[in-house]
Amino acid sequence: QMSSLPRAANASRAYAAAAQAVLSVLESELDAIRTAGTWKGERVITSQQGPRISVDGSRGDILNFCANNYLGLSNHPEVVKAGIDALKKYGAGLSSVRFICGTQSIHKNLEEKLARFHEREDCILYASCFDANAGLFEVLLGPDDAVLSDELNHASIIDGIRLCRAKRFRYKHMDLNDLEEKLKESRSSRMRLVVTDGVFSMDGDVAPLQGICDLAEQYGALVFIDECHATGFLGPRGRGTDELLGVMDRVHIVNSTLGKALGGAAGGYTVGPKALIELLRQRSRPYLFSNSLPPPVVGCATRAVELLLASNEIAQSMAAKTMRFRNNMTQAGFTISGTAHPICPVMLGDARLASLMADDMLKLGVYVIGFSYPVVPKGKARIRVQISAAHTDEDIDRAVDAFIQTGRKHGVIS
Ligand code: PLP
Repeated sequence: QMSSLPRAANASRAYAAAAQAVLSVLESELDAIRTAGTWKGERVITSQQGPRISVDGSRGDILNFCANNYLGLSNHPEVVKAGIDALKKYGAGLSSVRFICGTQSIHKNLEEKLARFHEREDCILYASCFDANAGLFEVLLGPDDAVLSDELNHASIIDGIRLCRAKRFRYKHMDLNDLEEKLKESRSSRMRLVVTDGVFSMDGDVAPLQGICDLAEQYGALVFIDECHATGFLGPRGRGTDELLGVMDRVHIVNSTLGKALGGAAGGYTVGPKALIELLRQRSRPYLFSNSLPPPVVGCATRAVELLLASNEIAQSMAAKTMRFRNNMTQAGFTISGTAHPICPVMLGDARLASLMADDMLKLGVYVIGFSYPVVPKGKARIRVQISAAHTDEDIDRAVDAFIQTGRKHGVIS
């Protein structure tokens, strides 16, 4: 059905024509997306997030392999209880930004715990990591500075960099030689910041942080990482990519999210030197001009961090499950991108094939999602499977069986 714009009864014919022209532009954009096979539908979940969910239109429990719920904390009883307790004690929300009357003791407490978790001096909370990425670069870097950014960095990093006035250098994905070239080219800049995802979410590949830190030290640059797909479960204590690769003391600034492994509600943050965090509180626009994190969200995240600070067990529970999926799928003939990360992209190439296969998987009770352009490059469509610590071995075997069945049906494997 064609949509329409609201129109006052006495609107002129010229206005009506202009309104119709706008709608035609929108409809033709939408048609182009449908024709390209890259339409992103949204399935409706009618239960809590977890390894087994109910999905509108599907019968019975569905195995969920597409959440960033890496540690299974999204509906962990202690995390949920902490959210309820915070709601009761501190209310629904602050109706304020932090610097006016939106800072509660629980916000300070969570910032202190996150700084401790990452072993950095200080922490500032945001409503999301998208906001943390939007707010950082503009504050830190001016026109005399340079930012050197991996070409496949997350959209929020790209947008954040667009907002800052530093000179921009884009180096080839994880290519240390190209990064070195760009460091040489930017030699005259006052300050330089190398910017990379710790883990790239579309491919599940891990940034070569040791090499990046070596080059940064050689050329006098700072290093920033986005740890959204690492915080909580990479490294022996789940501190992230910097811990995994032994460079916690060589990476200067970390942005990450509370919306994935750390309880999965919402929120993001920056950890780093105290002076930087203080300056962000004074100048960072998404912090200054957006509401404080709601108490229940703070409560859930705080409990998640406490669980991880108390024991390494949860962080360590992932690796064997990830390898079970990766090995069994590879043996069956599929190509899985990335290395030992729980993001396991099943590479298919064609956008329509990825979307059809994902639909067929759901019919077999396994919820996965096809990713296509513009989220990934054209011709590199895939189904991105994400393993969670909450999956059982049987869950993983069922997913592999469903892939084999649908893969044969669509001629992806023989
Ligand atoms: N950075 C990366 C690498 C991400 O994958 C995401 C989430 O998709 C974000 C930033 C944004 O995180 P948030 O959901 O907290 O805004």
